[in-house]
Amino acid sequence: MNMKSIKDKKIYVIYTGGTIGMVKTDKGYTPKQGYLLDKIKTIKDFYHNDVPDFKINEYPQLIDSANIKPEDWITIALDIVDHYEQYDGFVVLHGTDTLAYTASSLSFMLKNLNKPVICTGSQIPISELRSDASDNILHSLILAADERIAEVCVYFNKQLLRGNRSVKVNASGMDAFNSPNYPPLGQVGIDIELNEAYLYPCDHNEPAEIEFKTLGVPKIAVLSIFPGMDANILKKVLQPPLQGLILKTYGAGNIMNSPEILHELIAACQRGVIIINCTQCVKGSVKMGAYEAGVGLVNAGVISGHDMTDEAALTKLFYLLSIPGLTQEEVKLALHKDLRGEITL
Ligand code: ASP
Repeated sequence: MNMKSIKDKKIYVIYTGGTIGMVKTDKGYTPKQGYLLDKIKTIKDFYHNDVPDFKINEYPQLIDSANIKPEDWITIALDIVDHYEQYDGFVVLHGTDTLAYTASSLSFMLKNLNKPVICTGSQIPISELRSDASDNILHSLILAADERIAEVCVYFNKQLLRGNRSVKVNASGMDAFNSPNYPPLGQVGIDIELNEAYLYPCDHNEPAEIEFKTLGVPKIAVLSIFPGMDANILKKVLQPPLQGLILKTYGAGNIMNSPEILHELIAACQRGVIIINCTQCVKGSVKMGAYEAGVGLVNAGVISGHDMTDEAALTKLFYLLSIPGLTQEEVKLALHKDLRGEITL
């Protein structure tokens, strides 16, 4: 067991962009190269004895996370893998808009992780009064030094959440993230407390070696159904070369009783398209057999997304469809499995 003191720990910080380091310009907030690093150097707390040592890798092109692409997820994952042995933990500074997607994708790409990867951002830039940036970064650094954490997390506004369970729920409040279907992994009050029973298990004595799983660019879509939806919309979305669809349904996974819509779903499943049924509800799980309105989907070959977030379902599909040689049946089977703590079975 590693008995290093927190000051002896080294954290690798990946800075990708986002509000956290933005400055006001005539065109609105935009990331400014070098700004966040210079600002952090002026804040004494970051060099306190109870804060681990850290190095920040500012990416050459800081972006608003609305512009993130799967290629960027791969860059971040590889950056972690390349520095895995030299560092005790990792922090990813990222825009909040797509932070949950990045955290989810990292969880699938980094198999057998046995060190913390903490993703964070802020609602108010570090350049502004009342910013939440330095508090979020400081706590993320401290959590990234905690050996009990062996998974990708989101830290935001005093809460530590499982990365692939987190969703952005608030566009303006400081409590931007929540984990509707999984308890928080920790909370920050006077003390920093971890809910150990919910942490992803890891054997520090005999850790399995980290494995990087790359992502390809499968053709995937997300479609939310709505009252009165025309079957032609679904038909258009499901056109080849589509490989996978996250179908956002009502409640426990229900859909309208429409033979035309069902026909399109059956045809697509028979062509090999993987269709995952995820609920439009923020909380709870899909149970397709519960109502007559959902049974047709089971028969069509649509598979349950259980209680996965859209971000987890989407990135899991990215991951599984990128594994060479996996058959449609194997992808479906894997979607039903809990691969990285993303699903409650
Ligand atoms: N648009 C910003 C981003 O996601 C919002 C934020 O960081 O809070 O990069």
